Amino acid sequence: MTEVERGFQFGGRLSLDLTWTLRYRAIAPTELLRSPEDLRTWCSLAVAPVEAPVGPTELRAAVELREAIHGAATAVIDGVRIPATDRATINDWASRPSAFRSLDRQDRAAVRLRPGAPVESALAVVAADAVDVLGTADGRLRRCEGPGCSLLFHDSSRPGSRRWCSTARCGNRVNTVAYRRRRVVGAADPDRPDRTG
Ligand SMILES: [Zn+2]
Repeated sequence: MTEVERGFQFGGRLSLDLTWTLRYRAIAPTELLRSPEDLRTWCSLAVAPVEAPVGPTELRAAVELREAIHGAATAVIDGVRIPATDRATINDWASRPSAFRSLDRQDRAAVRLRPGAPVESALAVVAADAVDVLGTADGRLRRCEGPGCSLLFHDSSRPGSRRWCSTARCGNRVNTVAYRRRRVVGAADPDRPDRTG
């Protein structure tokens, strides 16, 4: 995971990364898509550079798609059916003209947004990823166990035992807390074997 401008973070799955733009949902919801410019930056970092200005309508649409993905992913994690409105929103976006790949002047593959509707075509890519993640039902869609985190992620590790959105962030925090707790408990425990004895 990398941390970049505006606090955006990316964990590897585009659709779940979009849900990460509302942080700390469970304890203190913090909106990272506060303006159309924030959305322009997110799309540029996540999909491909958006050259055109972005408006409030696109921002509302992105937030609507984000909440639909979050609602649907939460349902999958909790083992219940995806709410019909969330499914409809995701399917609607997945059906729209998407960004595409083409060869650039250096003959390298590059993602291109639709010139007339760059943000829409980026969100179509996000929705398509959501269809893949949600529809795979591989039991690897998870909620981060980090204290107060609750970010959703897809575990693509080989053992499939990932518990945190990021080992560097939440994994370390959990391990550090557990380590401190063990030390405190150890120091106060009269039955603890004396290692020097
Ligand atoms: Zn986390």
